[in-house]
Amino acid sequence: MASSWLLIENGTVVDGTGAPAAAGTSVLVEGDRIVKIGAEANADAVPRGERLTRIDATGKHVLPGLIDAHCHMTYGESRSEEEIDLYTSPELRTLKAAFHAQKVLRAGVTGISQPGGSYYIGVGLREAINDGIVQGPRMTSAGRYLSTSNSLTDWYPDSVGVPEGSIGVLHNTVDGMKDEVRRQVKNGVDLIKLADSPYGTYQAFTDDEMKIVADLAHQLGKKVTIHARGSSEVDAAVRAGIDWIMHGNVMSDATISRLAESGTPLVPTLLLLANIVDFGPKVLAPAPMRDGMARMLDQTGDSLHRAHQAGVKMAMGTDTGFSVAPYGEWHARELELLMTYAGMSSLEAIQAGTQHGALMLGLDGQVGAIVPGMLADIIVVDGDPVADIKVLQDKRRIETVVKGGVVQVFDETALRRSWPHDRGQAYSVTDLTYDLVYGEPGEAGNGDAHETGNGELDASDAEDLVADLQHRETSARLC
Ligand SMILES: [Zn+2]
Repeated sequence: MASSWLLIENGTVVDGTGAPAAAGTSVLVEGDRIVKIGAEANADAVPRGERLTRIDATGKHVLPGLIDAHCHMTYGESRSEEEIDLYTSPELRTLKAAFHAQKVLRAGVTGISQPGGSYYIGVGLREAINDGIVQGPRMTSAGRYLSTSNSLTDWYPDSVGVPEGSIGVLHNTVDGMKDEVRRQVKNGVDLIKLADSPYGTYQAFTDDEMKIVADLAHQLGKKVTIHARGSSEVDAAVRAGIDWIMHGNVMSDATISRLAESGTPLVPTLLLLANIVDFGPKVLAPAPMRDGMARMLDQTGDSLHRAHQAGVKMAMGTDTGFSVAPYGEWHARELELLMTYAGMSSLEAIQAGTQHGALMLGLDGQVGAIVPGMLADIIVVDGDPVADIKVLQDKRRIETVVKGGVVQVFDETALRRSWPHDRGQAYSVTDLTYDLVYGEPGEAGNGDAHETGNGELDASDAEDLVADLQHRETSARLC
């Protein structure tokens, strides 16, 4: 059968391996693989009569498609943990995930790993994408996070428990954890996700529990990752042989040197924190939550600079899926943040966002670089991301997205749609008391102090008023 060929001509190639950009370079793709680069990549290499698509990349940059190793397709841009866990049905959640997968791909993200989500939606979405039913990035998926009563996702009183729709599943015994791993593997996950303590202030799983889960997953041919923010969990994860670690916000020098020595990659996932800190006021994120995130970001910057200097390998992850990190909007911002908070060069950040993510896709050495033999996941960018990494954040500049050698076609109008938040059940962000309306005794007119000219709350007043939501909101965001 005749192959189909793709020739991306005369662009500046940033190959994802950390090598400098190569101007005036062409890339030839046969089927789903890159076959030639440079002088040999030309139309003469294509057998007569076979179908050839040509893209003129003169003046453009050509990169591997981005890989987001931490992207939650089932969260549905939720504004609260309750929205994630309780309200949306599995059926609607699945359909939303399928729609959102297109947005992720449109942003130049050709591969994602979902480290946890509700039901087995991630597994189903992966299969639908592989079968061509849904347009989306290459994907690997975990099932529900394995949680203990001291981990993420056991937010509610025991009378409620961890509901069926939760992104986590509660197990406080080794037998329960082993049973869960077996079931998840049977149901088709690529990886197991452990959820340790929410903020990295203690280690939630015991060393034995981590090791037993990791060993069983490996025995069954699957990978394991963990939400680990503090030194003790990161150390324990390294000892247990966990394949890569999410977050690592607060790490001692000793932990960092053990992590570097182990070669275990770290996926810092700065975007969620930075979006709330930098842009939170635009969406009225509560001020106390922003302050907490700002402190976490400060500490993270310190840890990541030391980790980068020590040679810890890092990959790009964004925690996309929340309302403050919607699908297809901010994935590439993580590269800018890795430069700011880990001290990477732009070429190192691009490598983190491409080549280093291949492991999380189960395709180490097969994708994430523009090198002959690799899968042809490629983006053509109007702009120079080596000089200005931010150009990757503007989708108008992502002119062409190629996945598996196929130039992707999108319905741009449809992809601009977002969906209503039909749940949440909130009546207000503060209490409507008599004094709020008419003022304290002797303070006539005080009630107007919180209003703008049109009678609505302005942003800074709203921040003060929602302080009482701090605990719940913070819990909801730091996953
Ligand atoms: Zn996450």
